[in-house]
Amino acid sequence: MSAIIRLLPDEEMETTTSRIPTHRALHWRPKTGPQTSSQPVVSVFVTPKAFTRFCAHAHSDLENEVGGWLLGKQRLDKNTGEHFIVIDTAIPARHTLQGSAFLTFTQDSQVELHRHLQDNHPDKELLGWFHTHPRMGVFLSAYDTFLHNHFFPEMWQVALVIEPFSRCGGFFIRQQDGWMDPRQYFGFHELMMDRKRSVVHWRNMTTRRPPKNRSKK
Ligand SMILES: [Zn+2]
Repeated sequence: MSAIIRLLPDEEMETTTSRIPTHRALHWRPKTGPQTSSQPVVSVFVTPKAFTRFCAHAHSDLENEVGGWLLGKQRLDKNTGEHFIVIDTAIPARHTLQGSAFLTFTQDSQVELHRHLQDNHPDKELLGWFHTHPRMGVFLSAYDTFLHNHFFPEMWQVALVIEPFSRCGGFFIRQQDGWMDPRQYFGFHELMMDRKRSVVHWRNMTTRRPPKNRSKK
């Protein structure tokens, strides 16, 4: 764990503002699960291209965990100051070995990733990572949390877990105090661009608004 490579120096991390694209997106929320009051520190937007890409990779192996990286941009809404990320690129990690190896977080793999991002996606930021839990459910293991905290320490970096067998998925996002609940996933906003139909097929998510159980006035 000696050398952790930062993909961008801090000076370049100045968050620029733009308009949050809520009006062009479908809001997918978890159907069930603990509806706690915890607030994620960023809102997640995903382009159809990125969604299709990470799902295709997730479904490429239903027996072993596979994964990769999520790229795009992070912004502050110029009116509200709300922090949001737009995931527009997903890069599958190469299978290193047959079997259980999926994402290798070694110094070599980080150097390779760094090089790949510099060469191919110089304008993008590393927004997080995704990996699958075939037949295991959507949560972060203790090791996943360890990896996230070590390799994705920025507040706005997220972890996506996909369960390809039951077609479920969810984003793990930090809260204001930096804590990330390994059992509570959040939904996301699907950017519709000019399309009418959604590409999202996760069974644990819905675009319907949750029933309000707050006390009536
Ligand atoms: Zn995991």
